[in-house]
Amino acid sequence: MKAFCIHEPGRSALIECPKPSVGPGEVLLSINVVGFCGSDLTTFRGLNPMVSYPRIPGHEVGGTIVELGEGVDTQWSVGQQVLVSPYTNCGSCSSCRQGRFNCCRFNETLGVQRDGAMTEFLAIQQEKLFAAPGLTLAEMALVEPLTVGFHAVDRGRVTETDIVAVFGCGAIGLGVISGAAYRNARVIAIDIDEDKLELARKAGATDTIQSSKQDLHETLQQLTDGHGPDVIVEAVGLPRTFRGAVEEVCFAGRVVYIGYAKAAVEYETKYFVQKEIDIMGSRNATPEDFKTVISMLQAKRF
Ligand SMILES: [Zn+2]
Ligand SMILES: [Zn+2]
Repeated sequence: MKAFCIHEPGRSALIECPKPSVGPGEVLLSINVVGFCGSDLTTFRGLNPMVSYPRIPGHEVGGTIVELGEGVDTQWSVGQQVLVSPYTNCGSCSSCRQGRFNCCRFNETLGVQRDGAMTEFLAIQQEKLFAAPGLTLAEMALVEPLTVGFHAVDRGRVTETDIVAVFGCGAIGLGVISGAAYRNARVIAIDIDEDKLELARKAGATDTIQSSKQDLHETLQQLTDGHGPDVIVEAVGLPRTFRGAVEEVCFAGRVVYIGYAKAAVEYETKYFVQKEIDIMGSRNATPEDFKTVISMLQAKRF
C-alpha cells in the first residue's frame, strides 16, 4: 500500500509499505479522510520535540472498517464508518494510576511517536474506535482536534455562569470556544486575524477582540464589569500570551494552558498568590471528551 512518509525534516515522499495485518482485538481501517494538523507541519519542519524519523504522520481520522480481528466486539462490523482516538496509555505510570490516561507519561500518539494514518490502511485496537452516526467522514476527522479544546474546557471546570476568554482562534482555540459555548458559558475570542475571529463567532464566541487593533486589557475589563474573565485558556504558545492569561484573569480565576510555549516565560508571580488562581495544563483528551464532541456535532452545534 501507499503511505506518506516524512523521512527527515524537510524531506517527504510517497512510499510503498506492507499492508498491515490485524491482530486479536484489532480492526483494519480503510482511511477515507485524514486531517493535516499543525503538529504534522511542525514534524516536517523538524521542530516537534516528541517525534522521531522516519515517520508516517496522521492522527485525525475518518475511516471504514474493512476487516475484523479475532475477538472483536459485535458492536463493530465491516463497512462501518468510525473515528479513532490516536493515543495509547501504559496503565502503570502515575497518570494512568489516577485514571488520567490522556496524560500518560509514555503516551504514543499516532503519527508522532508511532506511524500514523496517512496511509491506505491502518490496524488499530477496537478500544480506540468511536462510532458517530450521522456525521460525515470529514466531520469524523475533525473530532480529534476539537477534543483537545474540549478537554481544556473540562480542566477549567467551565460552567454556564463563567465568562471564558480564549487566546488564539486556530483549530485548538476553536475547539475551546465551541466546548465552552456548548456548556453555555459566555465566550470572548481573542486573535489578531479577523478571518479567524469570524470563524470563532460561528463556533459560538459571543464577543471577539482583535488584539492588534483593540486594547486587550481595557476591552476585557469592559466586557467583564472590571473583574476580568473567570477562565482564560491560552492556545497560542507565546510568552506574552502565557503571561497575559495570568495578568488578565479575575481574582480566584482559572488559567488553562494547552500549547507548549516556544520560549521560556518570565512571570510576575505575585498574581498567582494575590489572586489565588488555579493554573492548569491540558494535554490530549479523554474518551469522555470524544463522546461530548461527537454529541455536539450530531446536535449541529458547530
Ligand atoms: Zn493534532
Ligand atoms: Zn501511563
